[in-house]
Amino acid sequence: MLFPRERKVPSSMVGISAKLKEFYMIDLHTHSLFSDGVLLPSELVRRAEDKGFSAIAITDHIDISNIDYVIPQIVKACDELNKYLGIFAIPGAEITHVPPETIKNLAQTAKELGAKLIVVHGETICEPVKKGTNMAAVMSEIDILAHPGLITEDEARIAGERSIYLEITGRRGHSLTNGHVASIALKTGARLIFNTDAHEPGDLMDTEEALRIVAGAGIQGDEAKKVFSSSKKIVDRIRNNYV
Ligand SMILES: [Zn+2]
Ligand SMILES: [Zn+2]
Repeated sequence: MLFPRERKVPSSMVGISAKLKEFYMIDLHTHSLFSDGVLLPSELVRRAEDKGFSAIAITDHIDISNIDYVIPQIVKACDELNKYLGIFAIPGAEITHVPPETIKNLAQTAKELGAKLIVVHGETICEPVKKGTNMAAVMSEIDILAHPGLITEDEARIAGERSIYLEITGRRGHSLTNGHVASIALKTGARLIFNTDAHEPGDLMDTEEALRIVAGAGIQGDEAKKVFSSSKKIVDRIRNNYV
């Protein structure tokens, strides 16, 4: 098991945890069965609501082949769920394993189709993501560069300047470079965000689990608080413009 559940949060986090639990139970990178997740959007969102989340983004994998189909379905589901549930469901997309040259246009198309949050599947060291993906992502109109692997300082600096968040991930494998991502972000001023990249119900994490992973990447105290308030900031922006 990646993070023993019985372990307590680090002492520097005590006190922060309760507050964050109340306000920032948010996950902005998850998958439904519209890509390789196992749950329908309705069940994914309901399970997150039941776990105490205030917001969740469904960011299914897309490329040119399925973008026209997947995004409108997710938009339809989120619009319906938002009428009835106490959690805010955000329709998003994760641009995945596409030629880097096409990322900019796909991000634009995804937005036109109604996606409110654009994630790019970054250069994780555990998949053969095409070199140049991180750079193309931070040069595009996107929100989050997920699991960016051995991201360079230049890429991180551009992400910071363009208000694109770099992801600390709870996903095993992708999480191997969390420490590197965190240290480059702290050095360059890029902003960090925590997501689970959930594909099944057991992947959704509460704030204490998330805090342990963020602490494991070397981020504690105020810096950790910032990671979680970033999610809240993004959600507030989307909610204010949600029609
Ligand atoms: Zn996946
Ligand atoms: Zn993902």
